[in-house]
Amino acid sequence: MTQFDNSYARLPDRFFTRIAPERAPAPEMVLWNATLAEELGVADWNAEICAGNVIPDGADPIAQVYAGHQFGGWSPQLGDGRAVMLGEVVTDKGRFDIHLKGAGRTPYSRNGDGRAWIGPVLREFIVSEFMHAAGVPTTRALAAVRTGGRVQRERAYPGGILVRVASSHIRVGTFQYFTAREDYEAVRILTDHARARHFPQATNTLEFYQEVVSAQAKLIAKWMGLGFVHGVMNTDNMAVSGETIDFGPCAFIDGYSPKAVYSSIDTHGRYAYEQQPTMAHWNLAQLGSCFVPQMEEELGGQQQAIDALTEVLHSFPELYQAEWRKVFGAKLGISDPAEEDVALIQDLLGLMAKDGADFTNTFRGLLDGSARDWMLDREAFDTWAARWQERRAPDWQEIVAKASPAVIPRNHRIEEAIAAALAGDDSKAERLTEVLTQPFDLAEADRALSHPPTEDQMVHQTFCG
Ligand code: AMP
Ligand code: MG
Ligand code: MG
Repeated sequence: MTQFDNSYARLPDRFFTRIAPERAPAPEMVLWNATLAEELGVADWNAEICAGNVIPDGADPIAQVYAGHQFGGWSPQLGDGRAVMLGEVVTDKGRFDIHLKGAGRTPYSRNGDGRAWIGPVLREFIVSEFMHAAGVPTTRALAAVRTGGRVQRERAYPGGILVRVASSHIRVGTFQYFTAREDYEAVRILTDHARARHFPQATNTLEFYQEVVSAQAKLIAKWMGLGFVHGVMNTDNMAVSGETIDFGPCAFIDGYSPKAVYSSIDTHGRYAYEQQPTMAHWNLAQLGSCFVPQMEEELGGQQQAIDALTEVLHSFPELYQAEWRKVFGAKLGISDPAEEDVALIQDLLGLMAKDGADFTNTFRGLLDGSARDWMLDREAFDTWAARWQERRAPDWQEIVAKASPAVIPRNHRIEEAIAAALAGDDSKAERLTEVLTQPFDLAEADRALSHPPTEDQMVHQTFCG
C-alpha cells in the first residue's frame, strides 16, 4: 500500500493549482525501475497510473508555481507547465515527490502543449539513473511511458511521460516567485517548509541558506568530476535540496574542453562546463536576496540582513574549491588532496584540454596505463605522470576505481537508443540503462559503450524536449 502524505498540497492555495493529468490515449511502459518502485512501495503501479489515467488512492495532484531567471532574464511566472505532481510518498528512506513530466497542459503552460516526446523522456531516465549510480544527488526515474499520443516538434513524435522522483521540487525560482510579488509571508512559509524537509538541522533561515549553498558546492563539484554539462542552469532548474533537476539538453563531455557547450539554445555559452560553478553562485545570490525581508525582521535591520546573507553567499567559492579538490583528488587516487595537488590536477586537465583527450577514458585509464593513449603529447603526459606517482596513495587504484566511472551516458549512445525506441525497439534503452547503473563495473562484453563517438557519431548539439 502506497503511503501518501502530501505536505506541499497542504500549503496555502497560492503555492499551486490542483489539477489532474490529461488523459493519455494508450499508455505503454517503456522503462520501469523495479528497484526504485519497491523502495517507494509502488511495485504494483502500471502504465495507466504512470501516464496519469488512474490516480492512486491518497494522491492529490497539483501543478506547482514558480518563477525564474532564464539565461539571466527574469520570468516572473513559470511553474509546472507540463508536469503534475501526484503527491508525496513517505518511506523509511524519507519523503519523495512523484511527478509526471509530460502530463498535459496546466495553468502554467503559457504557449506550450504540456507534453514531452519520448526522446527527452528516455534521455532524462537514463541520465538521472546513471547520475544516481555514480553517486551524484539527483532526481530519480521511476518510469518512462509512451502515451499513445503524438507530440508536434520539428515533426510529430510519440508522446512520452517521465515519472520522476525527487526529495522535493522546491526551486530557487519558487522563492523568487513569492519574493517578486512581495508576498513575504509566503516566502517565510516556504522557507520553513523547505528547511524542515531538507535541512532540519538548520535552526533558522541563515543556517538554511548555508546548507543550500554547501549542498550546491558539493553538487556542482560532482558534476564537474563527471564532465557533466547541465545545459540550463536557470534558477527555476536549481533545486534547494541539492539534487540535480530538469535534465534537458544536458550532455557529458567526450573530448575534454573546459568551454564545452551542447545546448542549442545556449548560444553564448552561459552554462558552459567551466561556467557552472560561477552560475551556481549567481543563482545562490538570487536565492539569498529572497531572504532579506525575513532576515531583516530577525536581525532588526536591512543592512544587517544583507551582510549576514552576503557572508554566507561568499562562502560558496571556497566550499566549492574544497569539494572540487576532493572529487578530482580521488580521480587521481589521492586520498587527502592538499593545496599543492591542485596544480597537479590542473596540469592534467590542461594537457587533456590541449589534446582534446577523452574526459572519462583518460581518468579511468589512469588505472591501467591507457590514459596515455588518449593524449597526443605523450611526453608531456609522462612528465606529468612522474609527478603524479609521487603523490598517489598506496591504495590509489581502489580510490580511482570508485571515483571515475568506466562508462558514462555518451550522447551518441543515447541518440542511438532513442532512434531504436522510435522504431519500436526499446531493448537498446533498456540495455543502456542496465549498463549505466553499474558505471564503475563495465563488463568486457559492453566495452563498446565506453568508446567515444567516431566523427560521424558525434553529437554536436542537444535540444530541449
Ligand atoms: P525547462 O527549461 O524545461 O525547465 O522549462 C522552463 C519552463 O517551461 C517550465 O515552466 C516548464 O514547465 C515550461 N515548459 C517546458 N516545456 C513545456 C511544454 N511543452 N508545455 C508547457 N510548458 C512547458
Ligand atoms: Mg525546468
Ligand atoms: Mg522542464
